Amino acid sequence: MGFFSKDIETLNDLFVHTLRDIYYAEQQIEKALPQMIDKATAPELKAGFEKHLEQTRGHIRRVEQVFEMHGAEAEEVDCPAIDGILEEADDVSGDVDDKQVLDAALIASAQAVEHYEMTRYGTLIAWAKQLGRDDCARVLAENLKEEVETDRKLTEMAESKINLRAAE
Ligand code: FE
Ligand code: FE
Repeated sequence: MGFFSKDIETLNDLFVHTLRDIYYAEQQIEKALPQMIDKATAPELKAGFEKHLEQTRGHIRRVEQVFEMHGAEAEEVDCPAIDGILEEADDVSGDVDDKQVLDAALIASAQAVEHYEMTRYGTLIAWAKQLGRDDCARVLAENLKEEVETDRKLTEMAESKINLRAAE
């Protein structure tokens, strides 16, 4: 934040700032997912996290593509929100002994992450359209689609199996 003037003045500034926020968040998620893969017990959950790690790498590339299309530098800004979600995920999973309960905890944490990403991409898509950047909106919508799909699969896994096992 500048001393003499505020860095964010226009909707375009806010769009670029938020793009930098999700750029940072996606990279933190990329770093956190391998630990979640390690901790997961149910093979379908492990596989789901592995798949989403691959997708997350694609999300980072697409965000970089949007920076380039929009003529903005691909920089990160700290995002305390995602740091907090990931920190809490780590804390809670460290406190769970039972493997089945741990799987349920991992799903809950992963869904908090997905929902965070969904709010950011939803906002970014709306702002991109408002700014006349339907091209950027389309690329961001590809990321959003995968976050929504991942969230849906996690719900399905939790409700069909993981929560039942955790309750046994
Ligand atoms: Fe993502
Ligand atoms: Fe995600």
